Amino acid sequence: MTETRTPRVGQVKEITSLSNPIVKDIKALALKKYRDEQNAFMAEGLKLVIDALDSGWTIKTLIYSKAGRGNAAVEKVAARTVASGGLVLEVSEKVLGAITRRDNPQMVVGVFEQKLMKLSDIAPKGDDVWVALDRVRDPGNLGTIIRTVDAVGAKGVILLGETTDPFSLETVRATMGSVFSVPVARATPDVFLQWKTKTKAALIGTHLKGSVDYRTPSYAGRPVVLLMGNEQQGLPENLSSACDELVRIPQAGRADSLNLSVATGIMLYEARRAALAIGERL
Ligand code: SAM
Repeated sequence: MTETRTPRVGQVKEITSLSNPIVKDIKALALKKYRDEQNAFMAEGLKLVIDALDSGWTIKTLIYSKAGRGNAAVEKVAARTVASGGLVLEVSEKVLGAITRRDNPQMVVGVFEQKLMKLSDIAPKGDDVWVALDRVRDPGNLGTIIRTVDAVGAKGVILLGETTDPFSLETVRATMGSVFSVPVARATPDVFLQWKTKTKAALIGTHLKGSVDYRTPSYAGRPVVLLMGNEQQGLPENLSSACDELVRIPQAGRADSLNLSVATGIMLYEARRAALAIGERL
């Protein structure tokens, strides 16, 4: 059982200077290069940090503002951080604002180790639903999709090709904490297509020129991977031609297409309709 006593003096470092090297390293996490170098990323908010710890994520550093001193919940999280070998920093509002690039930062920020799932460890079964995203560019879209995957009880997200970083501050913010409960894997399109030949899952692609309405395929009773295209270009030929079915969401008005995260939400609710109807969780 984890020791959760209040950290002793000496286990919490007080920092007020923006030029402190530890603060500089944490600020650098705003850039992907340094996130990858440090294998780390930031998440803001006490609830998120507690959820992450409860889900088994490894905390490297806990940062809280002076306002958090004496707060029982903050002290408990600080004790858990120390117990797992992490660093605890008490910083000024100015430092916290600079780290999170916000005028009104949250009282608590956690720096966690990045964690990705291996595509080769994914073996869809039963009614599992996965989402594969081809070159997703927008962190808001990716975060919203991770959150929606979580909400509908789908299994996870597979990122294909050059995508936006699931561990950027913008993506993590948009996930509203779901980044800690939704497995994310990365693969090149070629590796994904090889993996596809070995899985039991049906690959259902979404395309403006899809030949069938998205409500036609049967989603229940078999594992499914929903394949979504890039925001600007849609799905390329090598991916769309590998799909078992290519579906279209009907549109009325003049819009060319739906926003990627909206289209993914519609697909996820259709693919999970049977499971949600019997009230799995909602
Ligand atoms: N100009 C792009 C194209 O021609 O495909 C538009 C891409 S759309 C913004 C991004 C992705 O959302 C698409 O690749 C597809 O996966 C999905 N999408 C958007 N609207 C859709 C619709 N009406 N039917 C099926 N998929 C759709």
